[in-house]
Amino acid sequence: MKLQSFALHNYKNIPQIAKLTAEQLEAIEVVGNVLPFKTNNYVVNELIDWDNLDNDPMFKLTFPQKGMLSNEHYDSMKIVLEKSKNRDEIKRMANTIRLELNPHPAGQMEHNVPEVNGEKLLGMQHKYRETVLFFPSQGQTCHAYCTFCFRWPQFVGMDEFKFATKEASLLKDYVKENSQVTDILFTGGDPMIMKAKIFASYIQPLLDEEIPNLQTIRIGTKALSYWPYKFTSDDDADELITLFDSIIKKGINLTIMAHFSHPVELETEAVKLAIKRLRSIGVQIRTQSPILKHINDSPEVWSDMWRKQVNLNCIPYYMFIPRDTGAQDYFAITLEDAWQIFRNAYQKVSGVCRTVRGPSMSCTPGKIQILGISEIKGEKIFVLRMLQGRNPDWVGRPFFAKYDKKAIWLDDLKPAFDEEKFFFEDELEWLFNEHVNDDEKARFE
Ligand SMILES: *Cc1c(COP(=O)(O)O)cnc(C)c1O
Ligand code: SF4
Repeated sequence: MKLQSFALHNYKNIPQIAKLTAEQLEAIEVVGNVLPFKTNNYVVNELIDWDNLDNDPMFKLTFPQKGMLSNEHYDSMKIVLEKSKNRDEIKRMANTIRLELNPHPAGQMEHNVPEVNGEKLLGMQHKYRETVLFFPSQGQTCHAYCTFCFRWPQFVGMDEFKFATKEASLLKDYVKENSQVTDILFTGGDPMIMKAKIFASYIQPLLDEEIPNLQTIRIGTKALSYWPYKFTSDDDADELITLFDSIIKKGINLTIMAHFSHPVELETEAVKLAIKRLRSIGVQIRTQSPILKHINDSPEVWSDMWRKQVNLNCIPYYMFIPRDTGAQDYFAITLEDAWQIFRNAYQKVSGVCRTVRGPSMSCTPGKIQILGISEIKGEKIFVLRMLQGRNPDWVGRPFFAKYDKKAIWLDDLKPAFDEEKFFFEDELEWLFNEHVNDDEKARFE
């Protein structure tokens, strides 16, 4: 299959586009000038049901929708587009709106950049002790863009620096010097946008050397969903599989962290073939997705998805709460609803699907799981648990927040039982205090 990409400048060439209403077309123009928009022929022909667009999850996952901007932002952009053909003016308005959409949530830019010999490694993030995230500079785009994505600023050219580095050897040095690191997680964008040769240039240095602490290489990707041919029939698919095979032969666990948001993404012959091929050489596949209004906010969708994943030999891994950025209001569901959906879905499946953890928020102190709603001594509370923490000692700690029907993110929560702070807050403040020197902070590593 030959890849054909569609974005704002050429989406009108999509044959099915005639099925859109005037409002849907307007929304693509207005929202698509603010948030990223890209799709492709596989998504268009195999995943979207063009006869049911009002309810179609894949359409909403990849095409801009009116509700993704507030009325105020929508109208401002619409007016500029109607009145002006001036690119600069359109761009200025787009950037003004973007800055109001919390482009950098959870302190990603400032707080997690590691150093080697006093030099900041800008293509890396190291937040949790065992796992280093690596953002290869050539993997900063995707086969299609998800409308909920928290990485949107880098796709609209807002970030001068996209965390990226070509410094594969610095990555290798860092992992070698930090023996507490067991995992490297390649992320992006989507690292599986890279040609096999380029991806190999990042991997080979890691294989050429003995790094006993390196146990798992993970690749965070949506290619199985948006372009499964990457692993089967693309020009470089065989080369990629051979590279994967050499990672595994070296004794390093290779895991694809696959993003699937709806069962429909697991139903095509192309994705089944790709999964089969990866599994046949021993690549592990773990799956994750945010829970999103309009896309997958029902227990049936999740239980169906987990079952299909397990039947295809994949391991359900995370259900996330969407981050507080971009079109969050469109996709947001309350923490309570997310937990109810998780629980109802979890009840419908057998233990082999219950490897999944969630719903989980990736926020500044760590990954926080909503374990449930309960009542202690007459106070209704959220029971929470830290799944990952900036301080490893926080991991696994249960804690409590006041019940709040409307809460959609950690920021909305207050500690239960009239306590002033959550258990991690003082320490977090200390960690972010620039006057505390790095050696002291290193006790967390
Ligand atoms: C989620 C995440 C990881 C990986 O966490 P696991 O629970 O091991 O999958 C690593 N780094 C960051 C910054 C993350 O958000
Ligand atoms: S594939 Fe991943 S990084 Fe790319 S737009 Fe979707 S969620 Fe974002």
